[in-house]
Amino acid sequence: MILRRKYLRKFYMMRSDFEQTLIPLLYSALHHGHAPSVEYLHGKTIPYAEQPQRIENIRSALEKSGLVNLEECGDSVPKSAILKAHDAGMVEFLETASDRLNQVMHSDAAAYRPSPDQNYLYPSVFPVRSSMNRLRENARGPHGFYFFDTEAPIGRETWKAASGAASLAYAGAELILSGQTHVAYALCRPPGHHAGIDFMGGYCYVNNAAIAAHHLRAAGKVALIDIDYHHGNGTQSIFWEVPDVLFISLHADPDTDYPYYSGYADETGPHGTIINKPLPPGTGETDYLAAFDEVTPSIRAFEPRSVVVSLGFDTYQDDPLGTFQLTANTYHKIARRVAAFKLPTLLIQEGGYAVESLGKLAVSFLSGFIVP
Ligand SMILES: [Zn+2]
Repeated sequence: MILRRKYLRKFYMMRSDFEQTLIPLLYSALHHGHAPSVEYLHGKTIPYAEQPQRIENIRSALEKSGLVNLEECGDSVPKSAILKAHDAGMVEFLETASDRLNQVMHSDAAAYRPSPDQNYLYPSVFPVRSSMNRLRENARGPHGFYFFDTEAPIGRETWKAASGAASLAYAGAELILSGQTHVAYALCRPPGHHAGIDFMGGYCYVNNAAIAAHHLRAAGKVALIDIDYHHGNGTQSIFWEVPDVLFISLHADPDTDYPYYSGYADETGPHGTIINKPLPPGTGETDYLAAFDEVTPSIRAFEPRSVVVSLGFDTYQDDPLGTFQLTANTYHKIARRVAAFKLPTLLIQEGGYAVESLGKLAVSFLSGFIVP
């Protein structure tokens, strides 16, 4: 891990309790290598909403805010940490996908000629999982085996970017486990919460929050709070049967919003450690915060030793993908509630597509962890 530990120790002295002066902002430039130009949605080709500028705007605003200390990380996550969250076959597929990309695009060019982005492989045929469906080695074709939608195209640098994002999450968990900080912000891109044990989709390839939460289990139970607009179907799949991780998700009702097939309130898991709070389209601050306050007693009763937040800003009122009506100030109020748990907390960047506003939303959120 490329972290200057002495430097960190100097800057992250506790002021009192769990408040601190500067929050580590973990960043990697590897995300720039992954930049699909288009996505296919409901039969339309539209610009790819999950773009590199999202992260750069957040980084720039947070650096200017004086709330953070930027720490650049390399690709340092151990493979074993990724394999705690994901199927080995899926990880191998993703890691070697750039080679397959060359093979598929050159040998089956006809299938890709219509693609407006010749640099990315867009899965388009998905198996209903059964023993009849196999991924044959060196098979040609559109490689939809590990995907549930068309929103996670693979390019030559996708694995590096995804592994780089997972490295930030892992490094953040390391900082917390070592006691060097009580709050850290991993500026992950691509996001991760739609990536499950053996499936990818929704801009997500590797589940950064799940990798961090698995690592933090070394110190005891973990509460993973997902406040992205969309249900964290991938995270839920990973922790469905894990009794010492409480997964709480506030999100748009899957009756009306992506990912449609999960996130309903009756999905609680075999240990009762899954809490889903689907909210109606157009939900505003008052109802959102009330829903958050409703789950707070369950989080406290679980007695976690640390908190991971899947931090999506697509609940913002101007987000082009969401319908919620949260304002910039709402994020400060959410963060105050998270800070009130007084537990070591790792923030993992997920969605948020109002690109020009993301910086101020991140600053508003993070200010909730700083003593006024
Ligand atoms: Zn989202």
